[in-house]
Amino acid sequence: MVRIETSPEDLAGMSAAEGILTARGGMTSHAAVVARGMGKCCVSGAGAIQVDYKAKTVKIEGVTYKEGDYISLNGTTGQVYAGEIPTKAAELSGDFKALMDLCDKYTKLQVRTNADTPHDARVARAFGAKGIGLTRTEHMFFEDKKILAMREMILAKDSEGREKALAKLLPYQKADFKGILDAMDGLPVNIRLLDPPLHEFVPHDLKGQEQMAKEMGVSVEEIQARVASLAENNPMLGHRGCRLGITFPEITAMQTRAILGAACELKKEGKNPMPEIMVPLIGILYELKQQKEIIQRVAKEVFEEYGVEVEFEIGTMIEIPRAALTADRIATEAQYFSFGTNDLTQMTFGYSRDDIASFLPAYLEKKILKVDPFQVLDQKGVGQLIKMAVEKGRAVRPGLRTGICGEHGGEPSSVKFCARVGMNYASCSPFRVPIARLAAAQAAVEDEA
Ligand code: PEP
Ligand code: MG
Repeated sequence: MVRIETSPEDLAGMSAAEGILTARGGMTSHAAVVARGMGKCCVSGAGAIQVDYKAKTVKIEGVTYKEGDYISLNGTTGQVYAGEIPTKAAELSGDFKALMDLCDKYTKLQVRTNADTPHDARVARAFGAKGIGLTRTEHMFFEDKKILAMREMILAKDSEGREKALAKLLPYQKADFKGILDAMDGLPVNIRLLDPPLHEFVPHDLKGQEQMAKEMGVSVEEIQARVASLAENNPMLGHRGCRLGITFPEITAMQTRAILGAACELKKEGKNPMPEIMVPLIGILYELKQQKEIIQRVAKEVFEEYGVEVEFEIGTMIEIPRAALTADRIATEAQYFSFGTNDLTQMTFGYSRDDIASFLPAYLEKKILKVDPFQVLDQKGVGQLIKMAVEKGRAVRPGLRTGICGEHGGEPSSVKFCARVGMNYASCSPFRVPIARLAAAQAAVEDEA
């Protein structure tokens, strides 16, 4: 699949594709994050390619490829080859398995996975993941019916309309959570409350807008006006993360109901679900406090309804510099911290995650940066915030569990840094679990040397 950049509307195509190539983006852009989660090869931010949607062609170094032509990708190096190169699926066996078993003998830092589907959870478990460090719930809405209900929820003009759409989403969410908790039975599953950049989810094309108008029984003009009113100058710093749950508490309530309802059902079936509920994009203690109140209130209702209780924890992402700076305050309300180093890097450097491709090559060439900080954790800057937050958090809550769930959680030097600052786990996409396990074990051995 070749796109200028991808958005949630491309999900069906991405899932059908063998590999994904985009002209815009970077290590943590939509295409890269979603493809990594799906275990697909992706080259994003290949600025030299020219994509022509109308003609269904892509021009690469003077050669024009049309729909159906073969190209091959190397997602590690970012190289694109003409023609088809044979590939082989990775599996954990033989010497590779022996090495991984050896890693477990030495490692202190555990490795979890970022997974949004039962399939990904199972793949990661087979690679040795010890639970889920991040389930991005917004990635669960891409199928046809779900995306319609999700769009209806975002486009609703009042809380009544939102409640109606949320009631449609609840059974989908509960079924999805049940599948994931079941796939990770007996291991912790950290589910993050909704954190979508809203603009990615609303229909920008007329066909999509007409479909939503029909679905919601309103005029196309009304939908268009709502889409326009949701437009933000800087969506990455806009109405996302817990800000959504603060302004629309009914979303937090629905998701809590779905997570804990799924867990109660599994417990009644004799399983051992271990849910963790994570509040994203916290910068102020009271954001977490208020979200926690909703979660705890709904939990009580759900446990009464089902006549069974499931142990669960409430934690937060540390991904806004202010959260790191005030980690001692945040830890009074959080049972665990998960470092979202994609956003933490974005906000510490002041670089938009989605727009880095335009200047990063020049920065690398001029040696202002040695590496892409969205790929390799910046230990001098971002790393200091992390180290400080771990220390501050544990000063008020000894033994506070800390982990990383940004894309750096699968990059060896970053994983080693996380081990050195005393984190409990690193979480990465399923196919990066083995490399993270190796890096974690190396960090432990190097520490003793
Ligand atoms: C992060 O910011 O590091 C993170 C894991 O969240 P997301 O990439 O979904 O913003
Ligand atoms: Mg984030």
